Amino acid sequence: MAPSLSPLRSHHVAVIGAGAAGLVAARELRREGHSVVVFERQKQVGGTWIYTDHVEPDPLSVDPTRPVVHSSVYATLRTNLPRECMGYRDFPFSVRSGDQRRFPSHGEVLAYLQEFAKEFEIEEMVRFETEVERVAPVATEGESGKWRVESTEKEESVRRDEVYDAVVVCNGHYIEPRLAEIPGISSWPGKEMHSHNYRIPEPFKDQVVVLIGNSASAVDISRDIAGFAKEVHVACRSNAADTFIKQPGYSNLWMHSMIERVHEDGSVVFQNGQTILVDVIMHCTGYKYHFPFLETNGSVIVDDNRVGPLYKDVFPPELAPWLSFIGIPWKVVPFPLFELQSKWIAGVLSGRIMLPSKEDMMKDIKSFYATLEAQGIPKRYTHRMGIAQFEYNDWLAMQCGCPGTEEWRKEMYLVTGERKRTKPETYRDEWEDHHLVSQAYQDFSLYTH
Ligand code: FAD
Repeated sequence: MAPSLSPLRSHHVAVIGAGAAGLVAARELRREGHSVVVFERQKQVGGTWIYTDHVEPDPLSVDPTRPVVHSSVYATLRTNLPRECMGYRDFPFSVRSGDQRRFPSHGEVLAYLQEFAKEFEIEEMVRFETEVERVAPVATEGESGKWRVESTEKEESVRRDEVYDAVVVCNGHYIEPRLAEIPGISSWPGKEMHSHNYRIPEPFKDQVVVLIGNSASAVDISRDIAGFAKEVHVACRSNAADTFIKQPGYSNLWMHSMIERVHEDGSVVFQNGQTILVDVIMHCTGYKYHFPFLETNGSVIVDDNRVGPLYKDVFPPELAPWLSFIGIPWKVVPFPLFELQSKWIAGVLSGRIMLPSKEDMMKDIKSFYATLEAQGIPKRYTHRMGIAQFEYNDWLAMQCGCPGTEEWRKEMYLVTGERKRTKPETYRDEWEDHHLVSQAYQDFSLYTH
């Protein structure tokens, strides 16, 4: 797209959240000349990577009045992407003094994000322990509506009501659990919980546990718990109805098809015909997009986990470019994608990068939805990218006038995905893509000072 000839404009921008998305958004917005305030309800940067022992009082996290614990990270969590692939493009997540493993612990990712914030002096833009409670357009006659941001600072109980030119939403999407529907569950006497509230395996000692799901969390947590529990059963709706497989290398871990129903006597019946008495059902069934503070008069809604309409998963045409979202795509390498989305938003706000007209953005979105429908892809998978993320990243990079995704990063993502599927027990400690690691470190040398 041709750059605008008009002089660049600087805007007053509110960023909601100081996780991996909000940090890089703040950096890119300031680099582009905007003035930035980042609102963060926690005491420090890092978002979901700030591990805590605390869990929510409601183990299923369905009570809307519950005190929210932001992090979904459990004690033994190691990354499921290699560090070289995972880091921001111009601030490599290379080996440093802490956990030097290629798939490091959550603490190492937090340390990396803290270093990023320090290097680019981001904390000076952040208002910590300040929760955004309401974001709504200021009622104006003009085209470019401003935004009212209402927030509360915890310590001082200071309430602020401020006006910004633009709002960038970076509030994270692993907080509001999705639950599986289980026939008979209302009279089943066992304990139910969501993986959001899982931290350590010891409380499951000698218990019979069923996990529902086939995501990274279900794979990792089932193995974590198997070291303590009497039996662990993983139920998954994408498995064939007759699936009943004992996991090699374990004496107490089985894969099943989905749960058919549960009964008052504590039993769980699987579609494969197996019936077992169960103490705990853990939903490892992912999360819902949730923007409890956002009022857009219906311009952006969440419908069956589709956030829309959003042009390229970022801008709602009706409110663009004054409202934008970072981090909506999933099944991606998040940090580099956040970085490109941030550059795009910053450039569009300053007028350096042009957006299509509202009508053309809507046309693009509708045609994307039609393609999904024609391919039989359910609405809830609208933002799942997988391999398509690289085309998306390259499109963003082209808009921003920066290089596309490095070949080694693409290949590393694909190779890791394959190894994760075939060798879930060992992929973090044994690998063969040494040549890709060398290429990554060659690239990294451009950024190390
Ligand atoms: P978050 O990190 O969730 O940050 C959002 C921030 O917004 C938080 O700090 C929160 O306090 C703040 N906030 C929210 N609402 C408000 C409000 N109203 N007012 C003020 N502040 C607010 N990614 C990888 O790259 N590799 C991995 O191995 C990996 N493993 C993962 C494992 C688990 C269990 C989970 C849950 C995620 C994993 N991810 C992984 C994905 C991870 O979520 C992203 O990498 C990334 O950290 C998301 O960043 P974010 O900024 O979008 O969200």
